[in-house]
Amino acid sequence: MNLSQSAWRLTLIYLLAAGSWVLFSDAMLASLGLSIEQLERLQLAKGLGFVLLTGMLLYGILHTYQYQQRLANRALHNSERRLQRALQAAGDGTWDLHLGSETLQFSAGYAELLGLSLAELGNSHKHWLSLLHPEDRELYQYNLRQLLSAPTAQPYDVTYRMRHKDGSYRWIQARGQLLVDDSGHPERLTGTASDITQRRNDEDSLRQAAAVFDATQEGVLVTDAQQRIVHSNPAFSRITGYSQEEIIGLQPSLLKSGRHDAAFYHSMWQALENRGAWSGEVWNRRKNGEVYPQWQNIRAIRDDKGEISHFVAVFSDISALKRSQRELDYLAHHDPLSNLPNRLLFTERVEHALERAKRDDRRGAVLLVDLDHFKHINESLGHNIGDLLLKEVGERLALQLSPGITLARLGGDEFGLLCEDCTSAESATGMAQLVMSCLKQPFNVMGQELFISASIGISLFDCDSQDVAQVLRNVDSALFKAKSSGREGYAFYTEELTQYARQRVELVSALRHALEHDELRVYYQPLICLKDQRMIGAEALVRWQHPQRGLVPPGEFIPIAEESGLIGAIDAWVLEHACRQMVAWQAAGTPLRFVAVNVSSRMFSRGELDLRVARILAETGLDPALLELEVTESAVMDNPDAALALLGRLRELGVRLAIDDFGTGYSSLARLKRMPVHKLKLDQSFVRGLPHDQNDVAITRAVIALGHSLGLKVLAEGIEQAEQVELLLALGCDHAQGYYFGRPQPAGELLNLSSA
Ligand code: C2E
Ligand code: MG
Ligand code: MG
Repeated sequence: MNLSQSAWRLTLIYLLAAGSWVLFSDAMLASLGLSIEQLERLQLAKGLGFVLLTGMLLYGILHTYQYQQRLANRALHNSERRLQRALQAAGDGTWDLHLGSETLQFSAGYAELLGLSLAELGNSHKHWLSLLHPEDRELYQYNLRQLLSAPTAQPYDVTYRMRHKDGSYRWIQARGQLLVDDSGHPERLTGTASDITQRRNDEDSLRQAAAVFDATQEGVLVTDAQQRIVHSNPAFSRITGYSQEEIIGLQPSLLKSGRHDAAFYHSMWQALENRGAWSGEVWNRRKNGEVYPQWQNIRAIRDDKGEISHFVAVFSDISALKRSQRELDYLAHHDPLSNLPNRLLFTERVEHALERAKRDDRRGAVLLVDLDHFKHINESLGHNIGDLLLKEVGERLALQLSPGITLARLGGDEFGLLCEDCTSAESATGMAQLVMSCLKQPFNVMGQELFISASIGISLFDCDSQDVAQVLRNVDSALFKAKSSGREGYAFYTEELTQYARQRVELVSALRHALEHDELRVYYQPLICLKDQRMIGAEALVRWQHPQRGLVPPGEFIPIAEESGLIGAIDAWVLEHACRQMVAWQAAGTPLRFVAVNVSSRMFSRGELDLRVARILAETGLDPALLELEVTESAVMDNPDAALALLGRLRELGVRLAIDDFGTGYSSLARLKRMPVHKLKLDQSFVRGLPHDQNDVAITRAVIALGHSLGLKVLAEGIEQAEQVELLLALGCDHAQGYYFGRPQPAGELLNLSSA
C-alpha cells in the first residue's frame, strides 16, 4: 500500500472515529440522565480513556514505522554490501562523476584496478584524465561531449587504456548511466569499470590464431568428442575439395579411402586414448574420388574435467612429396640414357635373387655383356652416335628378353642380365647366344650402319652361392676370360678363373718386386734393311728373368703391367737401358743407326711421354735421332687428336716414330695422313701367310703402297722364311724383322751377330 495514501486514510479514519466519539459519547452520557457530579466524573474518565487509547494507537503506529524503517535500512545495507562484493569478485570498481564540480568518487576496487590507493587516485576528473593513454584521451572526451550534448537513457559504454602504477597500460571498460536532475539537466555519470586487458590480449591471440588457421597450408579439421566435424579451414577445403558448409556435422570417415584396415584405425584411436596424440601417414579420398597420401597429426583436446571434448587433426598433402620421392628413387635406380635399371638396382635385384635362391632352393644366372670395340665407335663417330647406339642396344635386348629377366645398363658399354629362373648352364648359354644373335643385325644410327659384337661373362648361382659381391666378381672374371680368349664369345665362371684372378694379383706384386730387384732384362732383336740385308737397328724387347720360372716373355706380363699401372715404370726402365746401350754401341763404333723402344698405349694416352723421353735422352746423352719409338696403332687411334699433338712434340725432340703392329687396329686413313711418323711396322699376322695366302699378299702390298704414298718406310714383322724375304723385296718393302734374321737376344750377343 502507498505510504502517503495509508497515512491520509488512517488520519481520516481517526478524525471520523474521534469526532464521532466526541459527538456521540456526550449525547449518550446526557441521555443517561446522570447527575452533574457523576457526569463530570464520567466526562473525566472518558477523556482520560480517549487520551490513553489514542496514545497507545500512536505508539503502535510509531513503533511499526520505526521497525519497518530499520528493516528497510538493513536490507539496503545488505544489498549494497552484496553489490560491492559482487563487483569486487568480478574485479570491477565503481565510479561516480559529478558533472558540475568535475569531481569523481571511486570505490576501492576501482583504485585497485590501477594498483593505486584511493588517496593516490584522488577525486579530480583532471587528474584522472592524465592517467588515460594519450591516444585514447581525445576519443574519451569526444564521447563524453556527445553524451552531454544529447543526453540519453542509453547505457554509457566506453573502452580506453589507463596507466597502471607499474607503468603499463591496462584496458578498462567503463559502463554507466547518465543521471539527470529534476529539470532534466545531466547531473552525474555513474557506473562500473573492469580491467579487460586479459580479454583483449586473449582476443588478439585468438585473432592471430584464426589468421594462422585460415592462412596455413596445412588442412585443419576439428571434431567434437562424438567425431562430428565442427570446424575446418580453407586449406582443408583446398586439399579435400569439400567446403566447410558441406562437412559440418558429418564424420571425418567420409574421407576414408579404403586403403587402411580396421586394425589401422583401431591402433590410431588407441594412441589417441592413451597418449592424446597420433601422427602418421593416411591415405584419404578427395571429393573428386582421387586417393592421396597425407601426413596427419591428431590431438585430443580435454576439458576441465579431463574428458575428451574435441579432436584436432592437422594434415598436409604429401602426394607431391611422394611423387618427387618416387622420381628421385627412379633416377637413383635407372640409367638416364637407356632408362634401364642401373648398377645399383641391378645389384639389389641380384641380392634379392640370391636370397630367394637360398630360400626356395632355386638356380639362376647373371650375365655380363660387354660390347666389343665400342670405344672405337665413340672415338671415330662421336659420343652422340655412341650414346644412341647404346640406347638402341638396350631397346633391342629388352624386346628380345622375356619379361622375367632384368636387363640393366651397368655403365659404359656394359649391360647386365639377371635370370632368376635359369636352371642349367645350357639355358644360360641359350641366353648368351640370344644376346649375341640379337646384336648381329646391323644398327642404323643417324643414317650410319653399325656392326657390333659382344663378349659375355656368365655366372650361375644357386642356394649355396655366397654374397652378391662374390657373384658379381665371378661374372666379371668370366667376362675377362671371354674377352681374352678372343672377342665375340661367352665364358662361364669357373674355379680356375678364380685361380687365374688370384694369380694375376700375385703376379702384380711379383712384377713390382722384379722391378725393384732388377729382374727385368732387355733383349734386342735386329732390324734389317731388306735391300742389303744388313742390320741397321735393334728393337729393345723386355724380358723377366724370373727366379723360378726362368725367362718370362712380355706377352705374359705386359697386359697385367698395363692394367696395374706398372707399365710406366717398366717402359721408363727399358727406355733408359736401351738408350744407355745405344750410347755404348755408338762408343764402340757399331754400325747400328738406331734403337727402337716400345711405348705402351697407356703411357701414350697419359700425354707426358715427351717430357719423360727428353729427360732420359738428356740423362743418357743419346742423340735423339738414334732413338725410334714404337707406338701401337690402337694407341694412336684411341685418342687421335691428343696422339697427333704428342707425336708432334716427340718429333720436335728429334726422335723417330714408328706405328707398331700396323693393320690390327682401326686406323682412319684421313688421320694416318696427318700423323708425323716415319715408319709403319706391318703386323706379323699378315706376314705369316706370305707368300701363299693371297689375302695376306694383297694386304701386304696395299700397306707397302700406302706407306710409300704417305712418304713412310715400311717394315715387315715376323719374317721366318727366305721366301717371305723374297716376296717382300719384290713388293718393295724397306725393312724387316724376324727370327729369320735373328731372335731377340741380350745386347752382347746381338753385337756378335752384327759383326758376323
Ligand atoms: P712387338 O713390339 O711387335 O715386338 C715384336 C714381337 O714379335 C716380339 O715379341 C718378338 O720376339 C716377336 N717376333 C719377332 N720376330 C718374330 C718371328 O719371326 N716370329 C715370331 N713368331 N715372333 C717374332 P716379344 O718380345 O714377345 O714381345 C711381344 C710384344 O710385347 C711386343 O710386340 C711389344 O708389343 C711388347 N713389348 C715388348 N717389350 C716391351 C716394352 O719394353 N714395353 C712395352 N710397352 N711393350 C713391350
Ligand atoms: Mg715393337
Ligand atoms: Mg709388332
